[in-house]
Amino acid sequence: MMRAALVSSFTEPIAVRDVPVPIPGPGQVLVRIEMSGLCHTDIHAAHGDWPVKPSLPFIPGHEGIGRVDGLGEGVSVPAIGTRVALAWLGSACGSCRFCETGRENLCLAQTNTGYSANGSHAEYTVIDARFAVPVPEPITSVDAAPLTCAGVTTYAAIKAARVTPSERVAVFGIGGLGHLAVQYARLVGAEVIAIDVDDEKLKLATMLGADHVINAAKEDPVEVIRALGGADASVVLAVAPSVFDQAYRALARGGRLVLVSLPKDGTLTFPVFDTVLNGIEIIGSIVGTREDLAEVFRLHALGRTTVVAQTRPLSAAAAAMQEVLDGSVPARLVFDLDLERSGDGALAS
Ligand code: ZN
Ligand code: ZN
Repeated sequence: MMRAALVSSFTEPIAVRDVPVPIPGPGQVLVRIEMSGLCHTDIHAAHGDWPVKPSLPFIPGHEGIGRVDGLGEGVSVPAIGTRVALAWLGSACGSCRFCETGRENLCLAQTNTGYSANGSHAEYTVIDARFAVPVPEPITSVDAAPLTCAGVTTYAAIKAARVTPSERVAVFGIGGLGHLAVQYARLVGAEVIAIDVDDEKLKLATMLGADHVINAAKEDPVEVIRALGGADASVVLAVAPSVFDQAYRALARGGRLVLVSLPKDGTLTFPVFDTVLNGIEIIGSIVGTREDLAEVFRLHALGRTTVVAQTRPLSAAAAAMQEVLDGSVPARLVFDLDLERSGDGALAS
């Protein structure tokens, strides 16, 4: 048996329980999890917030880092002991037009870790061997975890925005995703504007290289950004309905609105006239590919990015979700599965 954070109902809090250790099927590997980041998506999954709900019961978690501990039939790579990342993209078909053109994140036959398949908030997880992305050794597991979703998602969003040096990028929402988005925007040479309603988070954005910060509770971000000349790209990582409108109106001519966050229900209306005349692009960006994740790890191994995270024991899963909902978390929370193994009499097999 193993300890796992299990969602058994969309209305009750997540609970840590003993469940059987999964057995890797053909083409899969068993991974002994060390660290597992808590993404806002896990909370949406646990609450059944989105139109397609996970089937109950299930284990969320898609920022899992651990070592390969068992091989399914036909698998030799990654070898036992290899440290790997388990991301949202748990598998894809490999042969559709999206998979064959470097857009496996759009594959219609994909599985999603911690949603359509059990995830990494557990001592062990199984995953398609081809989608277990190796983690370079200089990166700590606690850093690798947030990079596996928050990192790759914002990295791909900055790529989707096609930012060129000296362009102005506005990042709406500084948290697990936003603190990394600011850094990727900096890396491509942008002038970075960070927007949030929490001064602590704005302080963090400044530390990580934001050129301007705006507290949207105190001043109108549209006015401030337009006074700077407008944003060439607005990246939306927050879910409040007003933010989408602000992000759109803050754009300069030729600007790109990149949508990343997934509000519980959201329909956007944009003025056709302004969108056409100003040459505005509206882009949806969903996670990233395995190659994007490998690039994110390479940048981090080179020392180009900083991950801000705090660890929690898995036994605090429900409380940790509440912390995220309360907005009291500096950036990312990461479950340390080794705490689960060593302490509290919660030892598993
Ligand atoms: Zn995520
Ligand atoms: Zn495919």
